[in-house]
Amino acid sequence: MAHRLETGSVPFDAPLRQGGSVPRMAALRFRGPVLPDGEPRDLYVVDGVVTYDKPAGSESGGEGWIVPGLVDAHCHIGLDENGAVDDETSEEQAVTDRDAGALLLRDCGSAADTAWVHDREDLPRLIRAGRHIARTKRYIRNYAHEVEPDELSAYVAQEAQRGDGWVKLVGDWISRDEGDLAPSFPADAFADAIRVAHEHGARVTAHCFGETVLPMLIDAGIDCIEHGTGLSMDLIDTMAAQGTALVPTVVQLNRFPSYADAGEARFPAYADHMRRLHASRREVIMAAYDAGVPIYAGTDAGGVLPHGGIAGEVLELADYGIPPEDALGAASWRARDWLGWNAALDEGAPADFVVFDRNPLEDLSVLRTPLRVVLRGNVVA
Ligand SMILES: [Zn+2]
Repeated sequence: MAHRLETGSVPFDAPLRQGGSVPRMAALRFRGPVLPDGEPRDLYVVDGVVTYDKPAGSESGGEGWIVPGLVDAHCHIGLDENGAVDDETSEEQAVTDRDAGALLLRDCGSAADTAWVHDREDLPRLIRAGRHIARTKRYIRNYAHEVEPDELSAYVAQEAQRGDGWVKLVGDWISRDEGDLAPSFPADAFADAIRVAHEHGARVTAHCFGETVLPMLIDAGIDCIEHGTGLSMDLIDTMAAQGTALVPTVVQLNRFPSYADAGEARFPAYADHMRRLHASRREVIMAAYDAGVPIYAGTDAGGVLPHGGIAGEVLELADYGIPPEDALGAASWRARDWLGWNAALDEGAPADFVVFDRNPLEDLSVLRTPLRVVLRGNVVA
């Protein structure tokens, strides 16, 4: 982090106030335009929440453009390219995301049990989807529960109970028999799995690169599609009508040619398919945006991509042609609302926000250099 707090105390290390025996922690004041409406305000942080009622005393926390805590709607805490990592590495991943301003993470599948992150005040808020559920020998080794169609719904019920309201399916992956991307499960198994997840109060999302799996999932009422490079206009219209979300992970999509190259020798049809999906990716994602499909920003960090990349994902979404307010909203207020958190920094909202030294809606590149990161009312970066 380039900037340190220059004045005032950092309440992060302050003792908890108990029964009035410890002196009251000073309120922190942040001054500047508060997005998304951009109205200039004095925003105070008292006891971890936002207030606009001026407290008796306060010290300055900083000035600048104030943005509701950023959201990485697709990342993986506790995972690297080889599978589960230890808790220390998971902590480093979460801290890296936090220091980049990502204060709410939707974990899209982890081989490690990271429920302990919930108990850490200094780590981002985490919404876990449990462990990926894939077809036997049809996903990255050591990542997923690898199951057969008749086991799918039972695993979905289990992960729905273990996670935080989401279940992650691997919708499609390379089939060695077909030499190309193919759905992981038959349509009826997917439909039953989605029904079971909903019965357990969990939403369902799925990794989908190709075309064939998408109608099976979307027609069965899946809640979100990850990547979505195989979407057709018909399916995009259905998603828009149903409100099915899309997390395209556009930085990850840039890697498709490298996946094609890696598969070329053994699976030339797959390689060709991945290159075609790559060539049409911008057109497909923008067709979804233009049709009104709700799009959210996800970095896909934790597998092969590094953590802390939320700014890069927003910039790439904007480069596709998504206007700045929607590209940033996809990683802040709109995504927070979608995931059940306060969209705006209203009176009484949790004090999770990021301060920038210029207006991100005029220059999204400022997202790379947060001036202050405030999580649960504490200045953490
Ligand atoms: Zn992922």
